[in-house]
Amino acid sequence: MTIRTLTILGATGSIGASTLDLVRRNRDGFRVVALTGHSNVAVLAALAREFAPEIVVIGDEARLPELREALAGTQIETAGGAQALIEAAQRPADVTVAAIVGCAGLAPTMAAIEQGRTVALANKEALVSAGGVMTRAVAQHGTTLLPVDSEHNAIFQCLAGNDPAHVRWITLTASGGPFRDWAADRLQHATPAEAVKHPNWSMGAKISVDSATMMNKGLEFIEAYHLFPVGVDRLRIIVHPQSIVHSMVEYRDGSTLAQLGPSDMRVPIASALAWPARMNTPCEPLDLAAIGTLTFRAPDEVRFPATRLAREAVMAGGAAAAVLNASNEIAVAAFLAGQIGFTRIVQCCEDVLGSGVPSPPQCLDEVIAVDREARVRAHEALVGAL
Ligand code: NAD
Ligand code: MG
Repeated sequence: MTIRTLTILGATGSIGASTLDLVRRNRDGFRVVALTGHSNVAVLAALAREFAPEIVVIGDEARLPELREALAGTQIETAGGAQALIEAAQRPADVTVAAIVGCAGLAPTMAAIEQGRTVALANKEALVSAGGVMTRAVAQHGTTLLPVDSEHNAIFQCLAGNDPAHVRWITLTASGGPFRDWAADRLQHATPAEAVKHPNWSMGAKISVDSATMMNKGLEFIEAYHLFPVGVDRLRIIVHPQSIVHSMVEYRDGSTLAQLGPSDMRVPIASALAWPARMNTPCEPLDLAAIGTLTFRAPDEVRFPATRLAREAVMAGGAAAAVLNASNEIAVAAFLAGQIGFTRIVQCCEDVLGSGVPSPPQCLDEVIAVDREARVRAHEALVGAL
């Protein structure tokens, strides 16, 4: 593998840490251009000292003086604020890992896409919100968009060398989250601490809550719809508690291809970083004899209605997915802050979607406007004012 220049948007998070762990083990393979974080100056400064990027950017501009102080005596440039994130994403880099959480990552991810190089996308909320605005930019700039989300990375690998016209089904697997066996009445009392304790994966707080509500799978359904244009009728979800089969593609001849691996994000991240080559990861080889049993079951959309909402949003088209994502972000934050109960999260999304969906956004600014307006309505829904 020749040396690649690399930018990580959201370097201080879980995906950022997994990416940098791979870089650390492969120092000759990468040169880091830019690292960004939101507010954790200590972690960002330590990463900057270790990986010596050209620039580090802190999203929360108020923390910039602290970052400057922490990096005094180094040659590393520093900047802060939303516009600085975009400018960092515009610096030439062979690969940009888009790993900011939420729609906050949309503008920097679009800036990276506009470079026309390779974007390794973890930030699913950006694609869910922007939909066609993002996929059109990818096509227009000749960008290679590589999915990092484990399911989509699996599907991407299973589709390689095949004509999507021959696809019968794309099946996204879902662990079912920590509450998959909980009765409906118990779900109402689920706490933030219980929700973030995922049985298989170690992830950021927001995606952990999304896994518990199954909204993560809903967002992934929309993500798959945009990444793999086989049509909504050929996408489905199956619960697979062991998270070993990361997703599957069935072809018209009855062949099903699946990608298997440990529940470790370094595997899909490595696949994107090295693509179309392969690189080593420190993950243990898959020991199926030790795992013993792989099980599958249909999702329960009565207890977990989020995937139904996501499918409906895809069918409604236009701005519905952006509205769904924005209301979910607001509701998850309120749940994590102890302000609302667990089942209110998806209820809030349904209420906001039911109160109207604006016309389809045609450009990035319009997507951001839809997102902002939906956040206001989600707040209103949560205080009962909608
Ligand atoms: P995280 O919370 O651990 O990290 C998020 C990163 O985004 C941090 O670097 C944080 O500083 C930055 N950030 C947060 N708010 C920001 C803002 N307003 N402006 C700028 N930067 C901001 O999250 P994560 O688990 O690493 O997830 C990142 C993305 O990857 C999410 O979209 C998630 O859905 C997706 N993803 C994560 C995993 C996983 O295993 N963690 C798996 C698949 C997909
Ligand atoms: Mg996933």
